Amino acid sequence: MSEAILSRNFNIPDAHKLSVAEPRGAYETARKVIGALKPEEVTNTVLASNLRGLGGAGFPTGKKWQFIPKDSKKPVYLVINADEGEPGTCKDRYILEKDPHQLIEGILISAYAIGSHKAYIYIRGEYVLPYRNLQSAVDEAYAKGYLGKSVFGSGYAMDLVVHRGAGAYICGEETSLLNSLEGKRGYPRLKPPFPAIVGLFGCPTIINNVETIACVPHILKNGAAWFTALGSPGNGGTHLFSVSGHVEKPGVYELPMGVPLRDLIYKYAGGVKGGRALKAVIPGGMSAKILKADEIDVKMDYDGLKAAGTMLGSAGVMVMDETVCMVKMLYYATKFFSHESCGQCSPCREGTGWAHKLVTRIYRGEGSVKDLDTLLTIARNMEGRTICVFADAAAWPIQSYITKFRAEFEDYIVSGRGKAVAAELEAAGAHAH
Ligand code: SF4
Repeated sequence: MSEAILSRNFNIPDAHKLSVAEPRGAYETARKVIGALKPEEVTNTVLASNLRGLGGAGFPTGKKWQFIPKDSKKPVYLVINADEGEPGTCKDRYILEKDPHQLIEGILISAYAIGSHKAYIYIRGEYVLPYRNLQSAVDEAYAKGYLGKSVFGSGYAMDLVVHRGAGAYICGEETSLLNSLEGKRGYPRLKPPFPAIVGLFGCPTIINNVETIACVPHILKNGAAWFTALGSPGNGGTHLFSVSGHVEKPGVYELPMGVPLRDLIYKYAGGVKGGRALKAVIPGGMSAKILKADEIDVKMDYDGLKAAGTMLGSAGVMVMDETVCMVKMLYYATKFFSHESCGQCSPCREGTGWAHKLVTRIYRGEGSVKDLDTLLTIARNMEGRTICVFADAAAWPIQSYITKFRAEFEDYIVSGRGKAVAAELEAAGAHAH
């Protein structure tokens, strides 16, 4: 880690416990802020810091907070999205498991800024140890009076509930998460109205990602200008990049926003495993469009990757060496998205299933070159026509893999290599479907 801010406690034994976290500065900033600064001063500092939503959307955090109606007669809620389910992403897990007090301190300051007295953390059910460490940190904070009726004796009341999800990827979509939290089926809602106006239980709600909120104490401690200067223009601070796949040193790296992708792979993650050649990189979780080996001279921030035709997304960087079969990659991508579609919209429900059937046919050596164009047509008809962006996210791998590796797909189809794959799968008792 070259910039240890969010990750400064990751290698400290037992830093999830208050007895270790507090002497290392936990809650110092929240104590100074709550009751001493006006809520709008906190929001203005976060706005000036260029902190953007680090869950994937990249929306300016301070601006989002300003959407909460000032004269709301209803309670205001803060909801933390800890439903980290994007394939290739494990960054929030580190905060939840290794430094949960950092997140709780961020929640206290953020809730104070938006006038909220109740927050929820929606954590994915599969995160067992992160949940245990988080819940015990919440219990410790209550026991010390850092949560409850009068936070730090300031008179400001704050309750925090940890809620475990049941494993649906779509519950990471903010409105689906709200439905799930309300005990309903995890279906995304039509927007508008946006959650800042009609959110949890019909009340104004701010939904932010774990890492985003963990940045807040550092911004209030060191100032907006310090945070802005850490990153790149318009993209404040550092980011936790999850690097997986064919690299020598996979892991979570905290680096400034805008770090070149080439440096992330070769300087920090030790380069491609075994000295093999790089074939492709997915820069922002499974949904992000793929980059070829000659496209990695890009800045890892929202604007740099958008300019490169892809996205920063969840900053889950998946590195593929020359041995990777792109047909197999697309097979797994379409399998994932067809399984996780919530089924509300027909372009998504039917499109993801149909795409997976076609890719399976190709993978098993039963497809034709014409199928590639059909897949592109399906993807085009899924994009921008549905309630949430899941369908777009499912379309992008199809479009980018086929467009950028068309020759490999065609060669796979005409060579009949898939027949051998199908035979191997059957011999192993597995069936590609
Ligand atoms: Fe559900 Fe897909 Fe429609 Fe999103 S786009 S609401 S996941 S069917």
